[in-house]
Amino acid sequence: MDVISFSMPPVSILDNVNTPINYNLHIGANRYNSRICALKTRELASTHQVFDEMPLSTDSLVWNTVIQTHLANLDYSKAVTTYHGMLSRGVRPDRHTLPRILSVSRLSGSLSLGKQLHGQAVKLGVNNDVYVTGGLIQLYGNLDGVDAAKWVLDNSEKKMSSVSWTLLAKLYIKQNKPALAVDLFNQMVEVGAEIDAVSLTTVISACVVLKSLKDGRNIHQTARKHGLEFDLLMPLRDAISWTSVIQGYVKNGQINEGFKLFRKMITEAKIKPDAVSISSILPACARMAALKTGREIHGYLIRNVVPINVKVENALIDMYAKSGWLEYASMVFSRMKSKDVVSWTVMISGYSLHGRGDLGVELFKKIPKIDIDEISYVTALFACCTACMVEEGMHYFNCIKSPKLVHCALMVTLLSRAGKFDEARAFIEERSVARQTEVVRALIDGCRIHKNLSTGKRLIEQLCDLEPLNADNYIMMSNWYAQSGKHDASAVWRQTIRDMDLTPKIAYSWIEFRNKVHVFRTGDVSHPRSERIYWELECLMKNLEGEGFSWKPDFSFHDVDEERECVPIGHSELLAISFGLISTRSGTTVRVTKNHRVCHSCHEVAKYISKVVSREIILKDPNCFHHFKDGSCSCQELY
Ligand SMILES: [Zn+2]
Ligand SMILES: [Zn+2]
Repeated sequence: MDVISFSMPPVSILDNVNTPINYNLHIGANRYNSRICALKTRELASTHQVFDEMPLSTDSLVWNTVIQTHLANLDYSKAVTTYHGMLSRGVRPDRHTLPRILSVSRLSGSLSLGKQLHGQAVKLGVNNDVYVTGGLIQLYGNLDGVDAAKWVLDNSEKKMSSVSWTLLAKLYIKQNKPALAVDLFNQMVEVGAEIDAVSLTTVISACVVLKSLKDGRNIHQTARKHGLEFDLLMPLRDAISWTSVIQGYVKNGQINEGFKLFRKMITEAKIKPDAVSISSILPACARMAALKTGREIHGYLIRNVVPINVKVENALIDMYAKSGWLEYASMVFSRMKSKDVVSWTVMISGYSLHGRGDLGVELFKKIPKIDIDEISYVTALFACCTACMVEEGMHYFNCIKSPKLVHCALMVTLLSRAGKFDEARAFIEERSVARQTEVVRALIDGCRIHKNLSTGKRLIEQLCDLEPLNADNYIMMSNWYAQSGKHDASAVWRQTIRDMDLTPKIAYSWIEFRNKVHVFRTGDVSHPRSERIYWELECLMKNLEGEGFSWKPDFSFHDVDEERECVPIGHSELLAISFGLISTRSGTTVRVTKNHRVCHSCHEVAKYISKVVSREIILKDPNCFHHFKDGSCSCQELY
């Protein structure tokens, strides 16, 4: 790249811009001849006449208008002559003159003219003006390569305007260098330059070329920060681009944002979602148990006759089952014209999640033999676990040609849940899986359910040995001591976590209300209605304690915020339930999801609340759904 050629611009020609100068700007003849166009309008002729009549005008505005008219008529030669006349009459070109005449040199393909103009811009002190810089970037970018254009940007003093950056980014894209356009945008953000809708749509088009979801997500974050999120997406007229951004949010756990964009895509951008976009947003509904949004989407599909394929139907079943509406899941399943193996396994898992393993096992018997694979056996064993069907479980396990660890762990879960610890031990020895953490965890679950404290402790110690860096194991140990009333020892284990600088998983519960997912942490006071939420819980607890209820810790792995551990009233699931109670009409079912297993005390409290307020409370934890109704739970305490 020859940047030196304009590092020393020919400024001597303009020693005094106020003095008439004899300077001939000329255009490369060949390029000029090929581009020159004849005078097209009568208006131009009359404008020129007016100009000829006032040759002594010193108003640059007049000159600029004439140059602009020639430019609009593609008459580059006359534009240059006019500019020449302007200089010879001692009229100082202003910040609007140079960009126009720079366009002339670019459009006529004359780099030498452009370089002379660059020199004049420096001499006039307008080379840092945003319009002039933009004109120079376009000139060099088109006639001398994008590196020269970059040099102009790097050497300009005012870099806060988005114009020059965006012009350069467009040049990169034009020259098939989209990655450089993205880099440039990142630099722009770094230096704090102005970000506008044009710069955003330019860089997002580079991301589309690059097919880079990661860059797209970063840019989208920037757009959000600047309140330009919608401007960014509006120009994208296809469902694929919207879907990729929505998927980005969903994967990042920003489900509300994902939902919001999905609605905007339909209502404001008027883009009809396709099977891909639907099956990417439905799992988010399933994950968050966002039933309302899921139903809204299903309703949209029906109303707008969006073609539904097996994948979408499977996603619908999964969404309904995981957001607590088993009846609907089963309805979609039974209406399917053709089912694949995923349809069956999703439905069986749905039954198991809701404690209806018996129905799951029945359904498994109906799967065409040819479709049964190792994964479907996993769902069959899971169904047997929730229904405590040991014999059936054993039968299915024996049908698997080469059982994997996941199958073995489920068998151990089944045996220990059923209290058959001797058989579980024999099974573990036979399969040599004693040192597998999944298997140890399955045994611990059985010990917790059957209150087998001494074996439970030994197994937790074994787990701590197997995974010394997993904070969750130490939490379980600490909770075990708390359950045994040894609070000092419990505190020592919590200290161990701090000493080892480990981070336990944070417990969250959430509830969907008015198209939004409200998330609560243990002891959370950040919600705008916190005061009312706690007040409601305290009232309920007073009644409960009056009936002789007392908090009993258990050694499962649950809420771990040590400061608040002793106050289960602040456990996230209770906060979410309380929010549900105060926000919805009486009689409405309250649906809460938690990322950890519900603790024993909260389980008891939820049972009690369902009775006192005569409401069904559905609490989903990673293992199952708890349907609390009239003081009892559907899980039959097997959780
Ligand atoms: Zn709890
Ligand atoms: Zn339960």
